[in-house]
Amino acid sequence: MPEIKLEHITKRWGKFYGTDDVSMYIADNAFITLLGPSGCGKTTILRMIAGLETPTTGKITIGDRVVFDSDMGINIPANKRKVGFLFQNYALWPNMTVQQNISFGLYNVKEKLPKVDFEARTTAQLAEILEKPEEVKKIVEDCRDKDGKIDEKRCLIKLIDAFTISMPTAKKLFAYHLETGKDVSAEAASLKQKAADAKASKGLNDSYEFVQNGEVVKEERKLSEEEIDLAVRRVSRIVKIGMFMDRYPAELSGGQQQRVAIARTLAPEPTVLFMDEPLSNLDAKLRLEMRYELQRLHVETGSTFVYVTHDQMEAMTLATKICLVNNGVLQQYEEPLKVYNTPANTFVADFVGNPSINFIEATGTQAADGTIPLTLLGGQKAVFTPTEKLDMNAWFAKRDADKEAAAEELKKKASEKGYVEKGNKDEAFRYHIARVDEEELTNFDPSGMTNEDLLIGIRPQFIDIKSGEGVDGEIYGVMPTGMETTVKIRVDDYLLTGVVFGSDIFTIGTKVKVRFDSDNVMLFDRKSGKRIALGTVRF
Ligand code: ATP
Repeated sequence: MPEIKLEHITKRWGKFYGTDDVSMYIADNAFITLLGPSGCGKTTILRMIAGLETPTTGKITIGDRVVFDSDMGINIPANKRKVGFLFQNYALWPNMTVQQNISFGLYNVKEKLPKVDFEARTTAQLAEILEKPEEVKKIVEDCRDKDGKIDEKRCLIKLIDAFTISMPTAKKLFAYHLETGKDVSAEAASLKQKAADAKASKGLNDSYEFVQNGEVVKEERKLSEEEIDLAVRRVSRIVKIGMFMDRYPAELSGGQQQRVAIARTLAPEPTVLFMDEPLSNLDAKLRLEMRYELQRLHVETGSTFVYVTHDQMEAMTLATKICLVNNGVLQQYEEPLKVYNTPANTFVADFVGNPSINFIEATGTQAADGTIPLTLLGGQKAVFTPTEKLDMNAWFAKRDADKEAAAEELKKKASEKGYVEKGNKDEAFRYHIARVDEEELTNFDPSGMTNEDLLIGIRPQFIDIKSGEGVDGEIYGVMPTGMETTVKIRVDDYLLTGVVFGSDIFTIGTKVKVRFDSDNVMLFDRKSGKRIALGTVRF
């Protein structure tokens, strides 16, 4: 299935930039989640790839086909991009059965398809099954009720599943009354001969398609009943709704309805599947269940999935890669665990992870031995030791050079014809420092900060209160869930969130010693919000 390439995609409404110079490469068969706060531009990105929204500038390629190019004036409409959609409001038609809901769109498909002799193909298929009728007989016998009568409906479904055939073919098969002892070898031979004759006289290939000059003949046509039925059966098998085909949506649970919607989207075999918060209408348990279904679906269909969500847990668990967006700007685009463990900046560090990361303001400069002595948490002293060799001066110099280059680039852009200044300015992410008095930072001004203004980021599971070492703290709040306990620990006037695995019991007010037990503590530059290094912090 195809790869997708976005190059310098900008979407602007007046001075408002919905997306701002987004470039990304979505690999073949990837499962990408677009993640970010409300209004950040996730849906806009998805809609532009799908062809439902026209970018202002840039280029989009799906597979080897350029579907949008502002310079070349290319814009392929959505219905020609062979993509499928699944949105939050999946509205099924209430007056149609599941079968009709799924097949409805397929009746409208009209495209260049191989010319097939369907009759000959079905004849050959029946002949093949009748040549070895034991399996059919077993299925038929299995479908007897306690009075010995054969349950036709059940039997047809079983035949469809066992032989991957359509309902019309299953009915023909059933009509042979293949009960124990019945001999159909003569019928099988006759059908086989008929199919072979058709094949020879019409010059059909092994798939019973017409061939001319060694090439399969293609014709602009609708899908046949047989093809539609097979497509519907195939997708209903994937999402496990085969037994509900005759029901109406009102007779299904929310999760089952959602599966029907998924089946409807999958039926035309989209090469790329776009999903915009498809699970947000479901309850928590069902959401989790459907997440597993989507994962499985991704593997089974081999399609490329692009999925919009603002639920970071959903994004983390489903994706092969997460694309984090803020104010229309791509912040980081990497594998979920990379994003979690090595966030590019404070915005990303804060957005992924539950409970949220702890941010601790610190000041310090790098010592000659490479470590960084820090003052933090109301005057405590600690030392940050980077995991990898770090030259802070070089890092700051690069930061400033990059900033200058970006400003230069912007100046160049601004002089170009048609340039519109971004109205929704990019601002530094305002990280949250948890304090007992809940006082927010009042003078948050990154431009006034120096290179000594640093920020420590530490995930809650690395806050260790059981070792008896570290700085003085006090248990401030406790939330046990059975498997783990989330604790709030007060150090000076600051609050740290820790996660302790197991069912330890903590009492509010208990004095504890707090240390940071990880070599994955993050050091950020407060001026730019960027991550400088990973390392350890020892008090
Ligand atoms: P949510 O999670 O709330 O759905 P999102 O990240 O998907 O948010 P988008 O729908 O992509 O956000 O919208 C990005 C920004 O573009 C929003 O601030 C929105 O108000 C703006 N926007 C979207 N469509 C238009 C439009 N037609 N005209 C003007 N602004 C628009």
